Amino acid sequence: MRADAVVVGSGPNGLVAAVTLARAGREVLLLEAAERFGGGLRSAELTLPGHVHDLGATVMAMALASPAFRGLELKGVEFAHSPVAVAHPLDDRPAVLVHRDVRRTAAGLGPDAGAWLASVGALVKAGLPLVELLLKPLGPWPVAPRAFAGAAWFGPMAALPATTFAKALRTVEARALLAGMSAHSMLDLRSPLTAGYGLTLAGLAHLVGWPVVRGGSQVLADALVAELRSLGGQAVAGHRVRRLAELDAPIVVLDVTPRQLLALADLPAGYRRRLERYRYGPGVFKMDWALDGPVPWRDPAVAGAATVHLGGTFEEIVLSEAEMAAGRHSPRPYVLLVQPYAADPTRGGHTLWAYCHVPKGSAADMSDAIETQIERYAPGFRDRVLARHVSGPAELEAGNPNLVGGDIGGGLASLGQFLRRPVWSPAPWRTPLPGVFLCSSSTPPGPGAHGMGGWQAARLALRT
Ligand SMILES: Cc1cc2nc3c(=O)[nH]c(=O)nc-3n(C[C@H](O)[C@H](O)[C@H](O)COP(=O)(O)OP(=O)(O)OC[C@H]3O[C@@H](n4cnc5c(N)ncnc54)[C@H](O)[C@@H]3O)c2cc1C
Repeated sequence: MRADAVVVGSGPNGLVAAVTLARAGREVLLLEAAERFGGGLRSAELTLPGHVHDLGATVMAMALASPAFRGLELKGVEFAHSPVAVAHPLDDRPAVLVHRDVRRTAAGLGPDAGAWLASVGALVKAGLPLVELLLKPLGPWPVAPRAFAGAAWFGPMAALPATTFAKALRTVEARALLAGMSAHSMLDLRSPLTAGYGLTLAGLAHLVGWPVVRGGSQVLADALVAELRSLGGQAVAGHRVRRLAELDAPIVVLDVTPRQLLALADLPAGYRRRLERYRYGPGVFKMDWALDGPVPWRDPAVAGAATVHLGGTFEEIVLSEAEMAAGRHSPRPYVLLVQPYAADPTRGGHTLWAYCHVPKGSAADMSDAIETQIERYAPGFRDRVLARHVSGPAELEAGNPNLVGGDIGGGLASLGQFLRRPVWSPAPWRTPLPGVFLCSSSTPPGPGAHGMGGWQAARLALRT
């Protein structure tokens, strides 16, 4: 297949790479294995007709903060915010709420208000230039002195394990909130950087919000495909590339993870060995529901948040993630739940998803454990269920080969792989094969619907 540039895979990174190359005047061919474009941005009627569910990403904080998306100004994509960004219900007291306003959020944390302002507030003060620095760890960097000043203050805190950072917090509320945020990393919360993941995500809630795409994340994927086509690019779905030899283009950008690259091409031995050492993270067990009404939260404030962290106190969540990291299944898992209808009533009813972390490739059925955690804070939840859809690691990987063993992060988010993603290099998007680049979430800055890997890979490709 001949073109100036072929992009393999249409997740947010592949789509951004394709559009960036097409905008630079290259004739682009985008090939996608699945029947629908979008990868982690796809939506589908998983339960009942007319009920739109996101297969992957729903919360678009990363997209809003991303320089890659900000530059695109896509038509027809509307971000919808829930009244509260994030809620974390607790058993014996009101839920902890994260508002757009950092001071209002801090005020809800009592004696820990100062700690919230000194940590998350510092990120907010440094603003988007600091977030850009985090999203472009290897440059090019913004020339904003406050970003570097912010990084000097925020960096050392961010490097800490969440369990270490939590020693500075006194309240059950702030500690639980930190655990719920940090657990997005899918790491044992005793690992370095886990505080940083949590504080950064919390900072994004204040800086840009945690919105959803009105109508479902597929709308964003479709807008990117439409943009590519309007620039003369071709997009073909239902075409799985099995060997790079099938492709005939001076530029090839691959939205795949290291394991797939190893199967796609014969690579020099040194690079091959480095990719073989790349580590995947744990998996997720995801459930989608169609409900006959909103989740009956015991604390009604939780209904206003599109994202809800379940799992109780800091100690419980630390234990749940430590169990998962040790290869076991927590009977009371940390559950990340998204109720998009809190922000967007246009998805055909009350659709809901939630997942918990499980050991890589696990075949365990976590449905009961997840629903029990929801019932704990929303008694009567099960009575609202019209239909449910369950995807364990195997089903997730069957729908998207990038989700190796159910790992939705494209590889472990450890300190080592923060620096070596997938290899240690000033330009890790480049492979040793001439004109061939990697752009998936297995490259910096890692997981999330930000498109930054695609943007960096395309910019590098255009320079060579
Ligand atoms: C359940 C779930 C919930 C999530 N929630 C959020 C969230 O709320 N917010 C957020 O920011 N992120 C979230 N994420 C993470 C986010 O979706 C990913 O980080 C992001 O999609 C990664 O983008 P990507 O372009 O690297 O790869 P992907 O989106 O995984 O896309 C890769 C694409 O490449 C295609 N492909 C692979 N190999 C081939 C081949 N050989 N030939 C052709 N095509 C191929 C695949 O079919 C797939 O479409 C979630 C992910 C999941 C699974």
